[in-house]
Amino acid sequence: MDKSYQVAVFHGDGIGPEIMVPALEILQLLSACNPDYDLAFTDAPAGASHYAATGEAFPAKSLETARDADAILLSAMGLPDVRYPDGTEISPQIDLRKKLGLFAGVRPVKVSSGQITPLALPEGKEIDFVLIRESTEGLFFTQGAGDVSEDEARETLLITRDVSEKLFRFAFQLAQTRKQSGRGQGRVTCVDKANVFRAFAFFRSIFDAEAARHPDLQADHAYVDATALWMVQKPWEFDVLVTENMFGDILSDLGAGLMGGLGLAPSADIGLDHAVFQPCHGSAPDIAGQGIANPFAMILSAAMMLEWLGLTHKNPALSQDGTRLRAAVEQVLADGTNLTRDLGGTAGTKDAASSVLELLKA
Ligand code: NAD
Repeated sequence: MDKSYQVAVFHGDGIGPEIMVPALEILQLLSACNPDYDLAFTDAPAGASHYAATGEAFPAKSLETARDADAILLSAMGLPDVRYPDGTEISPQIDLRKKLGLFAGVRPVKVSSGQITPLALPEGKEIDFVLIRESTEGLFFTQGAGDVSEDEARETLLITRDVSEKLFRFAFQLAQTRKQSGRGQGRVTCVDKANVFRAFAFFRSIFDAEAARHPDLQADHAYVDATALWMVQKPWEFDVLVTENMFGDILSDLGAGLMGGLGLAPSADIGLDHAVFQPCHGSAPDIAGQGIANPFAMILSAAMMLEWLGLTHKNPALSQDGTRLRAAVEQVLADGTNLTRDLGGTAGTKDAASSVLELLKA
């Protein structure tokens, strides 16, 4: 079995390159210490700074590097002051979702006991659920091409059977994997607005058809407004939530809020043949260049990449290192002495990441 895996690396803009450096250092250490796999990294230049310097936002060669890779690691991209002539921002991360068919936006929300959260968690309760946001259609379908006149503006919501079937299949597979690993009850909740919109009744009917194929798993529905309430009132009850693009966009920031902020929110955009792993946050131009950005969302995204590579290539060594990396970040969070400012600490990016690295070396 070939145990060598190619990773395409997009360093990003603003704080992007600052948080990518320690993430790569950690991955290189894990790969060097584990005889059961080898990671090789190839840089893929793209983004706002690249556009400002060269006039090209996403070179064809970088897309090719991404297509050829086993996984894609991407740091935050875009800068508010660098725009195309039509006024929109440079966002290769969104282009990648469409070009590589990355329909499942995976947003884990995890708060272990002892970790700081704006909620007062009842004794013994932990939050551990995954929000899956459809990422190629929904209300983002006409993104950048909405119909706007002097008096009216229209955008189109598109839900297709093909993408919805893939999305729900993915959601049930994830619930199965979580159940097997003891992290979930094996329940998938379809989050929609089927009480008002026919498009969501259609979405729900496709969900129900997929649910019927998984009698060993539980399936239920929730309206998106009620879900927002329950994410605050009883988030420990969720397992896997699956929803439309815009609903997922909004709920995933609520999920990041539960975890104490964007600096702790990792994500993955997954399709049938490719996957991108990146933090949920942006390039944070307000703190770029100061060495104070929180590197944990990027490092947790790297952990998700290892777990996904392990599952996809049936290589448990990768999955185990992914789990070990996530646990190391959780330990640093629980310890609380080396946290960045957004989490109430005083540590810089390097020091916060070093505590994770030291735990892995130990
Ligand atoms: P942002 O996420 O960059 O920043 C929002 C706030 O969170 C800022 O105060 C920032 O300092 C803070 N923050 C974000 N990440 C942090 C971290 N790791 N550590 C500490 N603090 C952190 O959102 P924004 O300001 O709306 O967007 C800035 C740029 O990023 C824009 O150009 C936007 O288009 C782009 N963006 C990119 C992505 C992506 O690459 N997926 C996502 C969102 C925004």
